[in-house]
Amino acid sequence: MKREFDVIVIGGGHAGTEAAAVSARSGAQTLLITQKLSTIGAMSCNPAIGGLGKGHLVREIDALDGLMGLAADRGGIQFRVLNRRKGPAVRGPRAQADRKLYANAVQNLLFSTPNLSFYEGEALELQFNGRSVSAVSVSGGELFKTRAVVITTGTFLNGLIHRGDEREEAGRVGDPPSKALARSLSQFGFSMGRLKTGTPARLDGRSINWSGLESQAGDDQPEAFSMMTERLENPQIECGITYTTPETHRIIRENLHRSAMYSGQIEGRGPRYCPSVEDKIVRFADRDRHQIFLEPEGLDDPTIYPNGLSTSLPADVQTEFLRSIIGLEKVEIIRPGYAIEYDYIDPRELKRSLETKKCDGLFLAGQINGTTGYEEAGAQGLMSGLNAARYAGGQEAAILDRSQAYIGVMIDDLVTQGVTEPYRMFTSRSEYRLSLRSDNAPDRLTALGDLWGCVGSQRSQAFRKRMERLDHYRHLLDQKTLTPNEARDFGLNVNLDGVRRSAFTLLSHPDIGWEQIVAIWPELNETPADLTDRLLSDARYSVYMDRQERDIAVFKADEDLSLPDSLDYVSLSGLSAELSGKLMLVRPATIGHASRIEGMTPAALTLIASQAKRLQHKSDRAA
Ligand code: FAD
Repeated sequence: MKREFDVIVIGGGHAGTEAAAVSARSGAQTLLITQKLSTIGAMSCNPAIGGLGKGHLVREIDALDGLMGLAADRGGIQFRVLNRRKGPAVRGPRAQADRKLYANAVQNLLFSTPNLSFYEGEALELQFNGRSVSAVSVSGGELFKTRAVVITTGTFLNGLIHRGDEREEAGRVGDPPSKALARSLSQFGFSMGRLKTGTPARLDGRSINWSGLESQAGDDQPEAFSMMTERLENPQIECGITYTTPETHRIIRENLHRSAMYSGQIEGRGPRYCPSVEDKIVRFADRDRHQIFLEPEGLDDPTIYPNGLSTSLPADVQTEFLRSIIGLEKVEIIRPGYAIEYDYIDPRELKRSLETKKCDGLFLAGQINGTTGYEEAGAQGLMSGLNAARYAGGQEAAILDRSQAYIGVMIDDLVTQGVTEPYRMFTSRSEYRLSLRSDNAPDRLTALGDLWGCVGSQRSQAFRKRMERLDHYRHLLDQKTLTPNEARDFGLNVNLDGVRRSAFTLLSHPDIGWEQIVAIWPELNETPADLTDRLLSDARYSVYMDRQERDIAVFKADEDLSLPDSLDYVSLSGLSAELSGKLMLVRPATIGHASRIEGMTPAALTLIASQAKRLQHKSDRAA
């Protein structure tokens, strides 16, 4: 085996697999070190990919030729677009996955990637040459030299599982924690903290009384995540729906003191948006029931994931409360739920490339940066792996900003605000969500990815074809026009202002649908089904786009004003101590970036901008 690589990725979870794949795709000789090759692509918690906000991230990963969308299409057993009745900007594609098929798909994609090698074992220590990372030592005693390292160790750094008063050191159930690497990282003085997350018990579906339970089917016409997927092959399954009862709430309330989360055993903060059942019973005390989705974990697997019941109560209490739920009266538990707490590194320690500010060539991605979720991890993995490869090759970092992608929104939020609880993506986090839709991710990102060298030729070609088709059918919609009187003759209610309107403009009216347009111009019926929704979304949002583009132009102007790394905010008089402290920690890359720091004022921004200009002027004169 080779002993020297351009990039080493530590951890084969959702961040690590994307990081390793993109680094290798970009041409860097890459090594993925992970504890067990068999757990590559494992889903530690819920067997689902995508959802609100998260579905956008998956489409963006796919647009940059990543793995997650393809793997979800190959492993998906129920596809649904959430928020379908709302505007396209906030719709979230989601797939429930067969765990085994999903992990197999990730492994197949990864094991066939050129330039990528694997080492099964634990990464123990990082070695440095001055400030620059230079090697990684592993459990088998070997040392691998490298120019860049991406750490993606998820919940494993000093991981500690809690269930009632039981504690066990683990990265997740069945896997050892990563302690040596945690020690190695602690010597760099990174600001670190503890976070927690939890998972529900896994149930034996054969012991559930399904009769009388509501069920939820997927969409009639399932929508793939990936632009490259031609057909979804797996049979689609239904999920069950049930509810907690007043008895469930009584049992949980009476045992709160035995919950690891409530007895004060866990220091870390948990995800507010993915609360444990104990949390829900306490926080929403007036509710007499909570909805639970019973999600099959696979096509040939009886295991059921009861979505909504994550818990750190002792196993006996879990059995008792589960059996008080409708349909679960005789349920058998395959594995009890648990909570896990783990170390994370304050993401304000990172540059926007996800490289640490303290160590050159060291990148971090995924749950280690304080996020939660496969999609958030995958998206960071992709950007960190790409930037590690670029760093190793002496190229400039690839950065996505807030106006280009949800990935840009997430990274900007992390490196600017840090986290106080596990960070997850929502569409509400984006100011430019009319432009950042899940259906236009390839238009926004694939050409850029091509330029960065991380998009393969197959996807490049498919993308060009897609854009040609889109342009062609958009052009047809622009060419068909009607006067207001003609439109009225067809029953369309438009103003009699004398202005001819194209079919595209007519579609921008919320009460004019595709069927009415096709009734006027039957030849438009030939528009391929996969493009009609997309053209309709473009038309509906076109009236708001001018305004959004103006907002983006203002944002870009601020993003273009860069701030030198050498700017000393402490000696800049006029700044409060609190603000200069935050500025020193975040070290904003641009004036726009500085403006998003909590507590920033217009006066402080003016001071910073003029100091930056003074420094620039000085360095120009010196040159
Ligand atoms: P992971 O997917 O955890 O991958 C880490 C990888 O690193 C593993 O392959 C591990 O073997 C490897 N590794 C660790 N240390 C080393 C080392 N020193 N050397 C070599 N390899 C190493 N997400 C949600 O969105 N909602 C939830 O409700 C939720 N609940 C969760 C509950 C539990 C109990 C757990 C464990 C996770 C939960 N998650 C949840 C989180 C979700 O699993 C993660 O967000 C996601 O997997 C993070 O991806 P990652 O790549 O950062 O880490």
